[in-house]
Parts: sequence; structure tokens; C-alpha cells
Amino acid sequence: MTVILWLRRDLRLHDNPAVAAAMATGQPVLPVHVRDDEDAGGHAPGGASRWWLHGSLESLAADFEARGNRLVLRTGPAAQVLAQLAAEVGARQVVWTRRYEPWALVQAASVRDRLQAAGASCREGGGGLLHDPAELRTGSGGPYRVFSPFWRALRERLRLPPEAAAPAHIPPAAKVTSEDLTDWGLRPTRPDWAGGLRDAWRPGEAGAASQLARFLDDGLSGYRTQRDIPGRDGTSRLSPHLHFGEIGPAQIWRAVAGRAMADFGDPWGGGAESFLSEIAWREFSQHLLAAFPDLPDKPLRPEFGAMPWRDAPDELAAWTRGRTGFPIVDAGMRQLWRTGWMHNRVRMIVASFLVKDLLIPWQAGEAWFWDTLVDADLASNAASWQWVAGSGADAAPYFRVFNPVSQGRKFDPDGAYVRRWVPELAGLSDAFIHEPWAASPIERAAAGVTLGLDYPNPIVDHAAARVRALAALETSRNTAGAESQD
Ligand SMILES: Cc1cc2nc3c(=O)[nH]c(=O)nc-3n(C[C@H](O)[C@H](O)[C@H](O)COP(=O)(O)OP(=O)(O)OC[C@H]3O[C@@H](n4cnc5c(N)ncnc54)[C@H](O)[C@@H]3O)c2cc1C
Repeated sequence: MTVILWLRRDLRLHDNPAVAAAMATGQPVLPVHVRDDEDAGGHAPGGASRWWLHGSLESLAADFEARGNRLVLRTGPAAQVLAQLAAEVGARQVVWTRRYEPWALVQAASVRDRLQAAGASCREGGGGLLHDPAELRTGSGGPYRVFSPFWRALRERLRLPPEAAAPAHIPPAAKVTSEDLTDWGLRPTRPDWAGGLRDAWRPGEAGAASQLARFLDDGLSGYRTQRDIPGRDGTSRLSPHLHFGEIGPAQIWRAVAGRAMADFGDPWGGGAESFLSEIAWREFSQHLLAAFPDLPDKPLRPEFGAMPWRDAPDELAAWTRGRTGFPIVDAGMRQLWRTGWMHNRVRMIVASFLVKDLLIPWQAGEAWFWDTLVDADLASNAASWQWVAGSGADAAPYFRVFNPVSQGRKFDPDGAYVRRWVPELAGLSDAFIHEPWAASPIERAAAGVTLGLDYPNPIVDHAAARVRALAALETSRNTAGAESQD
């Protein structure tokens, strides 16, 4: 008998409950990754995620080989592919890790139906989250919509099992055919884009482990104060590794709390509490998606359903290309394009700019992020965009419209971030780096900046845009109010 290990977004061997479950059967293991874009409907991975997936699968395949096994790749609807494989090798068991995207829940249900009908047993387990969303509920049994009580409950109820090491040897099953990873065409055809991603990242479980080790040594103790400064390397950059399950949140939790305990005698000491609360924001987003499957498409708060959004393709294009004329916004959008990642503080600023200053629907920004982020995650992306737009759970109040100039001055006071990503402004003094149009023509000339030529004029007047955004919300609220009275 053979057990099929269906690897989805849990592309690791250490501390992977599905791997442990397959090993516990004592049977030969057939590990498979299914390219299942058809099942994902409109949520197949974007360009940057596909690039990452290629590297991650390459790394995982090498890890299986080192353990005497072989990762099989197949394409098609998962239920069909897994049933076919089970028939080929005579497998009677399939194990996998649960995912919470609405399409993935449907997918898993159809896999279960199909395999059980064929007489096989299925085991779906956790591992991608710290806590099963179905079991972490408010006192009245509903999902949490506010982060603070969610965070309190998670801390109180969290019981992590000891870490499970990767097996030294994974007994192989009978040989079956596998597709060739290079034939999947996951890597982008634009070589300049792939080059930027390659310089910035090392996909795979070993890359995740070394990123965590680096952060524990150099980042954790200063995280609380450094995490908001995009010009410094003050955050963990674990997000794509976490998204693809090259490392699990439980592994991170144990390592961070353990290091804080060793250094400060307190598992929450140093930057640990602040950092773990961010891991909890990831968890919160996943729980929200599990409870509200429409989160990626529709505002959670109905009063945002009638927003008079603008259709402004030129402004959207200027935003995606980092040519809005607002240096902190452009720096963020260029960092995203070049590296597939953007600092969290700047994500909030660029998102606010799109939704409020340009009055372009948050779903347009969400879609651009989906295609360009290496950590693009259905839950975190949707929850964060709705948070910025004001329409989500526990969201930023809509009337708080970020001023891109004062945000730039506050979080990038020495202009290091802007100088790095918008080098044509590097010669401006700190006083004007976030507001080049306010510099005197003499200062701009000395810095080699001609607005409209080397760098765009601002595409919008922020003060006027703020008023427009607030008026739009008022309109939406009134419309929603009138509709609910009908
Ligand atoms: C508009 C917008 C869109 C976003 N889209 C995504 C996305 O598609 N995928 C994604 O993983 N994160 C997203 N985020 C959240 C956050 O920006 C990134 O998780 C973070 O910047 C990743 O960098 P890091 O690993 O260095 O973070 P760290 O500061 O080191 O945090 C550690 C981990 O906590 C989690 N985390 C941190 N902040 C958040 C948050 N606000 N929400 C959810 N999880 C968080 C991430 O898994 C991260 O790796 C988005 C934020 C905004 C404002």
C-alpha cells in the first residue's frame, strides 16, 4: 500500500503535520504537487507568486531526493489528478494540509468525495495556521471582527505541540510519471523582472530557515522600534516563506518566544510581543477569510458598497509604475516592481493614496498586488486592502486620509528609502525629498531635477483629493442608508 502526500501551500518537510501523518502510516509515500489553477478560478497565482513557486518546488524536490524520494508534479483538477494517481499506485490513503481560501475548501471537498467514493481514506490536518478558525470564536460563537480580543483569545488558548523534525528518509512509492517543472512556464519571460526577484530572495525551506535565523540574530530585539522605518532592514521578510508554507507559523512562534526567553527571561520580551502580534494579524486575516468568503471582492461594511469610485486608467497606470509625483508612493511601487515585496508601512501609504487620493476602487490595487507581490496572499491582501479602505473588519477610519508628504517625513526622515528607489531625486535635501515641487527652482536645478521631465509633477492635489474622498464616503453612506430604508 502507498500513501499519497498532497502538498499544497505547505512546501516543507520540517514540522509539517501532513508529512508526519504520511510517515506515521509506515507505508511508502508518494509526494505530489498539483498545478490546480483551474480549481482556483479567478485566484490562480499571479506572476511573482508563480516565480516563487518555481523556486520553492525546485528546492522541495531536492529535499525529497536527499531523503530517497521523489516529488511528483501533475496538472489538472486536484480531485481528478489524485484519483488517477491513487489508481496508478494502488494508494488507499491521501493526506494534506487544510487551506482556507473559499476555492480551496471546495477543492478539498471534491477531492474527499472522489477518493472516498473510490474507497480511499482522506486525512486533512492543520499546520498552516496557529489555530483552527472553526474553534477560535467569540463568546457568542461568531467570528472575531476586532483584532484586540482576537489577539487576547489566541494568546490565551494557544497550545503548540513540540516541533516535529523532518524525516531522515521517506520511503518511496512505485515510480510514476511526473511533469517537468520547467515545462510549467512559471518563471516570467521578462528577464529584468526575474533578475530583481532573484537578487532579493531565496525561495525554499532552507531559505526560510536562514531568513528566520538572520532575523532572530539581527532583527528581533530592535523590531518594535525599527519595523516602521522602510529605509532600514527592520522586519523579518518572512511573508513569502510563510505564504508558501516553507516555514509554519508555529515554528516561528516557538523560535521567537524561545529566543526572547533566553535573552530576556520572558517569552514576550524584547521585540517578541510586537512581532508575534504581526503573526497574529496574518492569522486574523485568514480567520476573516474563512468566515467571510467574499472578503477579496466585496466590502465587509455595506455602507461602502455605493462608493462613487473613479474610472481613471491613466492615474492607475501612473500608480503601478511609480510615477505619481509623490516620492514615498513612487518609491514603494518601484520597490514592489523590482523585488516583489514592499515594506508594510509603505503598503499602507500607497494603498491609501490609490483608494482615497485617486478614488480608485481598492480591488484594482488588490489585483496589482496579487500579480506583483511574492507574498500575495488572498486573505492578507484582501483584509489589508479593506483595512486601508475603511471597509473591512477593525479598519482604519475612512476619514483618516494619509498625507503622503507627512507620512514620508515621519517614516523616512532622512529620505534613505526614497533615495534608494527614486534615485533621480537623490540630490534633493532632506527638507524637500518628500516634496520636490516645494523646493526652489535653484535647489531643484542643483539637484538635477526638472519636474515634468526627470520626475513627474504630482498627479493630484492632496488637499483637494482629501475633500473629494470624504464627500464620496458621505455619498456612499447616504445611498446605502436610503437603500436600506426602501
Ligand atoms: C495594502 C496591503 C496589502 C498587503 N498584502 C499582503 C499580502 O498579500 N500578503 C502578506 O503576507 N501580507 C500582506 N500585507 C501585510 C504586510 O504588509 C506584510 O505581511 C509584511 O509587510 C511582510 O513583510 P515581513 O515579512 O517583513 O513582515 P514582518 O513585519 O516581519 O511581520 C512578520 C509576519 O507577520 C505577518 N504580517 C505582518 N503584518 C501583517 C498584516 N498587516 N496583515 C497580515 N499579516 C501580517 C506576515 O506574515 C509577516 O511575514 C499587506 C499590507 C497592506 C497594507
